[in-house]
Amino acid sequence: MVLAELGGSITGALKRMSNATIIDEKVLNECLNDITRALLQSDVRFELVLNLQKNIKKIVNLDDLAAGHNKRKIIQQAVYSELCKILDPGKPPLTPKKGKTSVVMFVGLQGSGKTTTCTKYAYYHQKKGWKPALVCADTFRAGAFDQLKQNATKAKIPFYGSYMESDPVKIAGEGVERFKKENCDLIIVDTSGRHKQEAALFEEMRQISEITKPDLVIFVMDSSIGQAAYDQAQAFKKSSSVGAVIITKMDGHAKGGGALSAVAATKSPVIFIGTGEHMDEFEVFDAKSFVSKLLGMGDLSGFMDKIHEVVPMEQQPELLQKLSEGTFTLRIMYEQFQNILKMGPIGQVLGMLPGLNSDLMPKGQEKESQAKVKRYMTMMDSMTNEELDSTNLKLMNESRIMRIARGSGRAVREVMDMLEEYKRLAKVWTKMKGKIPKKGGMGPVS
Ligand code: GDP
Repeated sequence: MVLAELGGSITGALKRMSNATIIDEKVLNECLNDITRALLQSDVRFELVLNLQKNIKKIVNLDDLAAGHNKRKIIQQAVYSELCKILDPGKPPLTPKKGKTSVVMFVGLQGSGKTTTCTKYAYYHQKKGWKPALVCADTFRAGAFDQLKQNATKAKIPFYGSYMESDPVKIAGEGVERFKKENCDLIIVDTSGRHKQEAALFEEMRQISEITKPDLVIFVMDSSIGQAAYDQAQAFKKSSSVGAVIITKMDGHAKGGGALSAVAATKSPVIFIGTGEHMDEFEVFDAKSFVSKLLGMGDLSGFMDKIHEVVPMEQQPELLQKLSEGTFTLRIMYEQFQNILKMGPIGQVLGMLPGLNSDLMPKGQEKESQAKVKRYMTMMDSMTNEELDSTNLKLMNESRIMRIARGSGRAVREVMDMLEEYKRLAKVWTKMKGKIPKKGGMGPVS
């Protein structure tokens, strides 16, 4: 079961429970059994699921809940917080500090997406003003250095490696030394993965760790690994001091639940997820946002992070002010489309908007969605200031719609579609009135 389906099954179970006239032990048990089944089918580790069930029952003691209590809400909240608990080890990840040299070592099995992820991690930080550098200490896999070199060159990130030297420990030591001298503040060391967990691999990692003295060790794991994830994560945790986890290939058909259980094995948080082969298909992972999204509750904090990431600093206070007042004009929609197009993979952003599992941005059709957004923007280019700044759609009478269609060379039908889209978005935003911090309360991740 892929994670979207898991979310659907859990919300389905909660909805069925909500539809029951009286919520008694039997209804609660049925709901919990449905959730348990869905989690197990998604490869979440058995012990974790059992624990979740036990804890929810402990929180939701139906006998103790007086008649006035909203049992549905209490159960929903318990499911939410217990799912968050599975994904959140309760301690924040150690984050490197900009401007101060940090060494981050990547570990994981071959094929997990380690080399790709090293570059994504470097690129992500480079965009935020860091000075990253990549060291290829994988001499085991032929082609590893070429791959890293190619990726690093594309992203204009300095790299170090060797075709001749076969000792990964030596390369790692030299690379880190060199980039320290060059004042890079984020030195990323890619290590070899080999095919399976074996003593030689762990010994090599120990030696590389000894020479590079990493501030953070990141364990990279393929999301399709299933139930084996727990043991693999634990083996890596035992042999190196894993401080954070990155899960790759979350875009595929993997069940994902197994890899998410890695948090429990390593007691380290998942900090990013990989959602594609490209450099920017990489998302900050936050347990609470993830569970909110999974349960269809929308991901406000993730969305705020994206706003901070894409909207120029000077525009942020004004935008947040307007949104917090619940004012959503066509001009705001236009500006947001502009920002979203800047971000590349468009679905990432709109998928986070509460209530928006949208026909505007169906998953897997990002190109079409971008074209549609651009078309909408062309139509909005033909609108007057009065139209763009109004929140009253009554203003948009037949003759105005015809004028916009003519001016943008699009059909009247399309203009109406665009206005429908605006209506839908405006409805979502109006509901969020008051929930948005007025002045950048949630700063960008650094
Ligand atoms: P390594 O052996 O662990 O260094 O793995 P690589 O970085 O060479 O990745 C193995 C394969 O997985 C490559 O084909 C990557 O393009 C692909 N890959 C890595 N991360 C992702 C991801 O998040 N999504 C998808 N779809 N493919 C990925």
